[in-house]
Amino acid sequence: MIGILIIGGSDCSCGAGVQGDLKTVTALGAYGTTIITCVVAEHPGRVEALYHLPSSIIESQFHSILDFFPISAIKIGMLYKKELPQKIAELIQKFKIKAPIVVDPVLAAGNGDSLAEPGMEEELAKNLFPLATVVTPNLEEAEILSGFRIENPDDILHVAQDLSEQYQSSFLIKGGHLQGKTTIDVLHYKGKTYNFELPRILNANPHGTGCSLASATAVFLAQGLDLPQAVEKAKSTLYEKIKNQLQIGPFYFLPPA
Ligand code: PLP
Repeated sequence: MIGILIIGGSDCSCGAGVQGDLKTVTALGAYGTTIITCVVAEHPGRVEALYHLPSSIIESQFHSILDFFPISAIKIGMLYKKELPQKIAELIQKFKIKAPIVVDPVLAAGNGDSLAEPGMEEELAKNLFPLATVVTPNLEEAEILSGFRIENPDDILHVAQDLSEQYQSSFLIKGGHLQGKTTIDVLHYKGKTYNFELPRILNANPHGTGCSLASATAVFLAQGLDLPQAVEKAKSTLYEKIKNQLQIGPFYFLPPA
């Protein structure tokens, strides 16, 4: 069994955040450990309240895990506090972690609710992008990081390349929020662009799908797949799971594309 370290916020509705990641990692047969950075009261549609934890308890969780558990990949999600990217980068270096690191630069939920202090993007870019095997922004986060408005699939290709060149790291842009009959995710890796496209599942609730794509990619990287293969397998595995998702209510379903 392989161990995956998940760092992020608690989503009480358990679709996104640490709970969503832990379910994904468990479903894929790995053992997930978690470092909780904040507790979010939310449901698929709205963030109601948020409480962030002091960085001392984040450091203690890090020690508790790293002193005992072998870690084959790390998935970093919602950090909220601007001081945390530097703190986590220091801990990763202190423990000399060599495993692949998936950095999900969580800035806002799909509904636009903020999940980070203002200025978080600079702290992530400075401290965690250089350590990342891949950075996985959604469309809105890619727009904030690049300063470019994304309106069509071609824009995603260009922005993935620009971000990779600007930050000298691989970028996977999760394009699920772009309307259309398919969902398109674009990876820029070692100078090449890879396009992952599957039919959109109508009436699916997308909450947490971005988190799960990133954590599934972390599992497949830990298993030794190279990045394009890991993303492809993560996307196709999630596609099957989303088809079978729990139906929780009509209020948040997207209109058919
Ligand atoms: N809540 C938490 C704790 C998260 O980490 C994330 C991840 O981006 C979200 C909510 C956003 O979820 P979504 O945009 O899929 O609704």
